[in-house]
Amino acid sequence: MHEKLSSIYDNVLRRNPGETEFHQAVREVLESIGPVLGKHPEYAESKIIERICEPERQIIFRVPWADDRGEVQINRGFRVEFNGALGPYKGGLRFHPSVYLGIVKFLGFEQIFKNSLTGLPIGGGKGGSDFDPKGRSDREVMRFCQSFMTELYRHIGEYTDVPAGDIGVGGREIGYLFGQYKRITNRYESGVITGKGLAYGGAQVRTEATGYGCAFFVDEMLKARGTSFDGRRVTVSGSGNVAVYTIEKIEQLGGRVVACSDSSGYVLDEKGIDLDLLKQIKQVERGRLNVYAERRGHNATFVAGRNVWEVPCEVAMPSATQNEITGRDAAVMVGNGCIAVGEGANMPTTPEGIKVFLEAGVAFGPGKAANAGGVATSALEMQQNASRDSWTFEFSEHRLEEIMRDIHDRCLQTADEYGMPGDYVAGANIDGFRRVADAMLALGLI
Ligand code: GLU
Repeated sequence: MHEKLSSIYDNVLRRNPGETEFHQAVREVLESIGPVLGKHPEYAESKIIERICEPERQIIFRVPWADDRGEVQINRGFRVEFNGALGPYKGGLRFHPSVYLGIVKFLGFEQIFKNSLTGLPIGGGKGGSDFDPKGRSDREVMRFCQSFMTELYRHIGEYTDVPAGDIGVGGREIGYLFGQYKRITNRYESGVITGKGLAYGGAQVRTEATGYGCAFFVDEMLKARGTSFDGRRVTVSGSGNVAVYTIEKIEQLGGRVVACSDSSGYVLDEKGIDLDLLKQIKQVERGRLNVYAERRGHNATFVAGRNVWEVPCEVAMPSATQNEITGRDAAVMVGNGCIAVGEGANMPTTPEGIKVFLEAGVAFGPGKAANAGGVATSALEMQQNASRDSWTFEFSEHRLEEIMRDIHDRCLQTADEYGMPGDYVAGANIDGFRRVADAMLALGLI
């Protein structure tokens, strides 16, 4: 790492003790942007990087609620408004027992550069809670969401901060959150939250956008290397929103997805994942993946407690959570003939894993570029809400495809410009950083 950046990084470690995921996310960006400082001494002079590493505002609050037995439960809520240079803070809410400030800050930090890469007017933020929706009834989830919003509402707004979903926050939760916002404020402020249902101000393709966008991004990477998804063997981790729509688009693009996973293990289905069955089990019944294998019959096997990356694939789409591909996993995947990786999740590959992929010449699409289709389509939802309009599915999907192609091309061009051809990690970090840095310079010392 560049000397100046390394001292900034040491300072980040000192100021944010114990927040290992945040440290990891900062380190990856700082490792990429050294060459930019040579070309732009003004960034260092006005301490742009030090400022970017310090959130503009961090909100932590108590979320009390009563479960179905009447017992009082206390969770912790977070919203980190990281950088508002490009637009209102924008980023999802994650409800998962692992959530603490370090996770929210890593996600918020990633979001700054991801949102910048989309080219749309959105700043970076993230939030969530250590609430675990698993095994909770709809009524419990509703009471939790209402309590969460009873604090959050005072911090958000169409022009201030616009939350959306992430792990554990889907259409059901967004509905309860928006309903409570509307009730408290007495304002039908559609643009205050994205990922809304189509019945109340949501946008076509938002549900599908992260997965579809990630498949489009990988399709572009493959095309840049003169190949395509056609006939390729693909594995996907996870089986939530991102995984499901990644599988759907890859199947449309001619690939064959043979495996996906959840926290209990993975399912191997050589004929190709049956999406209708997967959606029924995961989205309607909120069940576990072993049920998929039971109902699919002899075509599929469920492998309990094992890692999906042991399944040979040509293209891998990590779409579950952070740090799910280690250096060792990556080495196994490369050995099995993996030629491309598209990160649908945020930071699913460890630094060691990324190193293995880049050294092996794998086309590696980092999350902040490859999964930017979700937040980009959120920005399109905000645009439709602001103009009280709604676009067709076809038009919205076409816009998403254009945005993903544009992000892909800019990552590639920037990597070329800085003498690192084919390195999408460097391209994404540098291009995302430059736009935010220029906006911060223009806005003065804020
Ligand atoms: N949670 C998603 C992400 O990681 C989407 C955020 C949004 O739509 O605001 O980008």
